This record gives sequence, C-alpha cells and structure tokens, in this order.
Amino acid sequence: MSKKKTLEKIVLATERDFPIMPMSLGTMHHNRTGAWRNIRPVIDKEKCIQCGICWKFCPDVAIYVENEYPVVDYVYCKGCGICAEECPVKCIAMVEEEK
Ligand code: SF4
Ligand code: SF4
Repeated sequence: MSKKKTLEKIVLATERDFPIMPMSLGTMHHNRTGAWRNIRPVIDKEKCIQCGICWKFCPDVAIYVENEYPVVDYVYCKGCGICAEECPVKCIAMVEEEK
C-alpha cells in the first residue's frame, strides 16, 4: 500500500470518529484565529511520514491534506504548537512570526 492511500485512509477513518466540529466550535468559524499567532508551524515535507496525527490533533481544524501532505491554514492556525508537539518525527518547526 502506498503512503498516499495510507494517509487518505487515516483521514477518512478518523473523520468518522470525530464530531463534525471539534473543540474549536465557536472560534474557528467566527474568528480568524490566525491573528492570535506569534509563532507558526512549518512542516518539513521531506521528513513527513504522512501519519495524519497533526491533522487529528489540531484544535482549530487548521490543518488539511493537500496532495497527500498536511498543509497549515494560517488564517485559522493560532500557533499553539500542539501539532509540533504531537508529530512523531518532529518535522514541524515552530517559527517566530516576523513583526
Ligand atoms: S499550531 Fe498546529 S495545532 Fe496549533 S492551531 Fe496551528 S496548526 Fe493547529
Ligand atoms: S504529524 Fe508530522 S509526520 Fe505526521 S502527517 Fe503531520 S507533519 Fe507529517
């Protein structure tokens, strides 16, 4: 099985297990929580093993999958760093925002 199919399967299977709106209900859809951020996650795709854990743990649903890799939506990413903490191969760096 290719990595591509694995990641798709993880995301699709996990979506069924989650409520439609996780804990960010009331923030994500009403606030552009990216304005809160002073550090941003940057994903190193070369090291990413496409496990989907960052997508699963992001409390603001600010990570989506595109071309089989996770992508951060900086409009909603508030820079909490949970994705970087949970990434099993530590390929997400939290980088200071430019002032
Ligand atoms: S830092 Fe990571 S977990 Fe936190 S909001 Fe941004 S993408 Fe989601
Ligand atoms: S948790 Fe890390 S390795 Fe897993 S999909 Fe996200 S960036 Fe890639």
